[in-house]
Amino acid sequence: MKRWLLPLLGLLLLVAIAYVLRPVFTYDVCLTRMVRLSAGLRAYLHEHDNTFPPADQWQDALGRYLASDKSLSCPESKHGTGGCAFNASLGGIGIEALQDPRDTVAFFETDAALTTASGPELLPGEPRHDGRDNYVFADGHVQRLPRKKNPDGSWSKQPDADWVIWDPALDSPQAPAEGRP
Ligand SMILES: [Zn+2]
Repeated sequence: MKRWLLPLLGLLLLVAIAYVLRPVFTYDVCLTRMVRLSAGLRAYLHEHDNTFPPADQWQDALGRYLASDKSLSCPESKHGTGGCAFNASLGGIGIEALQDPRDTVAFFETDAALTTASGPELLPGEPRHDGRDNYVFADGHVQRLPRKKNPDGSWSKQPDADWVIWDPALDSPQAPAEGRP
């Protein structure tokens, strides 16, 4: 084997490994940013009598509690700094009004533009992380949840967990599903 061939093969191997590990890496970055977003939300709630920010101004409201706008983005997002939305049904309500903050979505991934506040209809067309999406729940915990693929190849817009609450005014609390993590 030629002497110059070995370093070249080593480099190619490194590139291949980096390519294979890329989904893992981007998942970790997204999850870390969700954790920062959760910390910002908790700081905001602490200083605002446990009341969620207004749905149409949540980014301005949380701005001073976030280290950077990157906390709102996913590396797999189609929009540079976009990628995360606030659950509009929480806008301006107190956390004590929620039946179970642990099951209520606060932030979720979206393909829509930044400053979005909405519901599950704005989940990304395709989950970004190996069939799963990252969420911040109203109690502050961050979780990755799977979605179901429909027979026609599209993705179900609800995460594959029937205990997730999007609208506390409409959804009744449900018993935790079997196999809940
Ligand atoms: Zn993501």
